Amino acid sequence: MNCPRCRERDSRVIDSRIAKDGLSIRRRRECQKCGYRFTTVEEIVREGLSVRKRDGRIESFDRRKVLSGLRRACEKRPVPVEQIDMIVNDVVLELEARYDQEVASNMIGEIVMAKLKPVDQIAYIRFASVYRDFRDITEMEQVIHDLKKPL
Ligand SMILES: [Zn+2]
Repeated sequence: MNCPRCRERDSRVIDSRIAKDGLSIRRRRECQKCGYRFTTVEEIVREGLSVRKRDGRIESFDRRKVLSGLRRACEKRPVPVEQIDMIVNDVVLELEARYDQEVASNMIGEIVMAKLKPVDQIAYIRFASVYRDFRDITEMEQVIHDLKKPL
């Protein structure tokens, strides 16, 4: 997005807000060169988000991966398919709003967990065990312990 004042290409996102219809994002940007601030409205059609994996590899964001991870976690749990789809949509919207180009894979996991937590605690623990790669029972106990804490 070129700066309207000096045409510089690099701008920093200083604030993002999803429109009420959920289909566009207003971004407040600041030019990296002259400091000029401007607003852009971007439609959510972009699939250009890159994911940085724990081992440093970069791959393009794939919402199907989020979906399949959630489906696995929710297997045989009383979570309707529509709700799983809604969680995936929410996760994608949040990623779109918070990240411009690249997101660390663990942030995606954290966002999914935050959305799954109020929906189904067993699914939440399952997802956490896969995603956080629990090495032993104490790590799982910690997550369960955290769940039991009053909000
Ligand atoms: Zn500028």
